[in-house]
Amino acid sequence: MRTLSGGIDVEALTAHEVVDLVLERLHPRVALACSFQKEGSVLLDMILTREPRARVFTLDTHLLFPETYRFWAETERRYGIEIEVHSGPSLGRQAATHGDALWRRDPELCCSIRKVAPLARALGGLDGWITGVRRDQSATRAGTPKVGWDDRHELWKASPLADWSDEDVWAYIRERDLPVNPLHERGYASLGCTHCTRPGEGREGRWAGTAKTECGLHV
Ligand code: SF4
Repeated sequence: MRTLSGGIDVEALTAHEVVDLVLERLHPRVALACSFQKEGSVLLDMILTREPRARVFTLDTHLLFPETYRFWAETERRYGIEIEVHSGPSLGRQAATHGDALWRRDPELCCSIRKVAPLARALGGLDGWITGVRRDQSATRAGTPKVGWDDRHELWKASPLADWSDEDVWAYIRERDLPVNPLHERGYASLGCTHCTRPGEGREGRWAGTAKTECGLHV
């Protein structure tokens, strides 16, 4: 059985200890996947405090909120980092290939070309990635391990906040006086693309009114 921990019970570790373990074993071949949500604010602080040269990447769908693009730029300034970017096709190229409003006609294909394919490129050459996934976000995330082997992408996947609640996240942000994406204050608990995200608790604002609940990055 594959193990990153050398016999340590990873599930008993705190979020900081998981970050320490992953950076110690995998840096610089590990990167944080950041989508500029509140969990990202927490992990950026934890990771960059521990290792200022830690790698961070984001997936640019070209359909993020203006607030998210501004918060992205502010984050780079605050930490003095350059976030690695992996993008889907331009809107024009997508329209030429798949027609207009793909997000409405076929959101699975839209996420596949704008998120899932760029993620595969982002993970190429890495030995591990770090995510802000939490178990209480949805039933599909309930079994998320703090560190596990990602069979689909063939590398380690760490979710240091797996056992955190929403309140734990906000308490850390208050304690560390961290900046957060202003969309959270406007009722968006979970953030995605402009076309598919509405204000709402938990993940209820994502693809609201459709059966879709995940973009395919974590399932
Ligand atoms: S979240 Fe919506 S707009 Fe963004 S990639 Fe997925 S379907 Fe397309």
